[in-house]
Amino acid sequence: MFEIILVEPRGYCQGVKRAIEILENTANESNTANESNEDNQKSTFVFNEIVHNSYIVRTFEEKGVTFIKDPYMIPTDSKLVFSAHGISPQIRSLALDKNNEIIDATCPLVNKVHKEAIKLAQDGYHIIYIGHNGHDELRGVVGEIEEIGGTYSIIETLEDINDLDIQSNSEKIAWLSQTTLNVADTKIITDELKRVFPQIVTPKSSDICYATTDRQLAISKAATDVDAVIVIGSPNSSNSKRLTEVANDHCENVFMIDTPAEITDQFIKNLEELQIKIIAITSGASVPEILVQETVQKLNHS
Ligand code: SF4
Repeated sequence: MFEIILVEPRGYCQGVKRAIEILENTANESNTANESNEDNQKSTFVFNEIVHNSYIVRTFEEKGVTFIKDPYMIPTDSKLVFSAHGISPQIRSLALDKNNEIIDATCPLVNKVHKEAIKLAQDGYHIIYIGHNGHDELRGVVGEIEEIGGTYSIIETLEDINDLDIQSNSEKIAWLSQTTLNVADTKIITDELKRVFPQIVTPKSSDICYATTDRQLAISKAATDVDAVIVIGSPNSSNSKRLTEVANDHCENVFMIDTPAEITDQFIKNLEELQIKIIAITSGASVPEILVQETVQKLNHS
């Protein structure tokens, strides 16, 4: 039997709750129209995962929702939901050209970064965007900059600053960031950017959202007093991976799991061999509480 500490806050943020509600309503409308053979039957598609969580995606697939990633798969005459991570204007246009009904579940805090990017690009700034290459949120923001012919560089690490091909005396440089970054690492990167480019324009308020910040702060405190930390989150969830990084800074035994199915007999045996007695559990902003409760049950019944 382990002593389990449930870290607060954990799990769903407001942006994720909102996106899931929007998709639930849309999928229910589609299903109702299909069941009653109404004329306006339209299937529900989502561009990218609505939120980065495998359980949520699977649950919606079981309700008839189709997730697509490839722009060439954009349907015609359907309901197309844009995920919490936001969308580029190019994908939006493509979807509208195919006569889709657009339902936008982009988190308002991601939209805030889109607006900042548009304004800075319109004012002629070169934007240094700190984010994870290939992430859905990044693609949406750089799409906005490209749409108005702006210029940008993407950096992910402190070392990437050395590779920036920007004159240090360029007058118009600004930085923006993804909403789900590691708060401490990003501070180191932005301090260095300010040192190299003292004229760089900084966002008025941090682009890293409150949910990311609060969850990282909570796990950094909890992880110091326990033998192990379990972070629940899917491997493609940026904020869940950042929670794991932060926990690793404060605790030797950190495990990231996607679902409670990973709490196997072997997993428990490993914990016992490591003489783990107290475990802190947290979950990423896209993780439903049911996965936390099932994890606790499995650990309690070991
Ligand atoms: S993690 Fe932050 S930016 Fe992302 S959906 Fe949640 S509140 Fe919005």
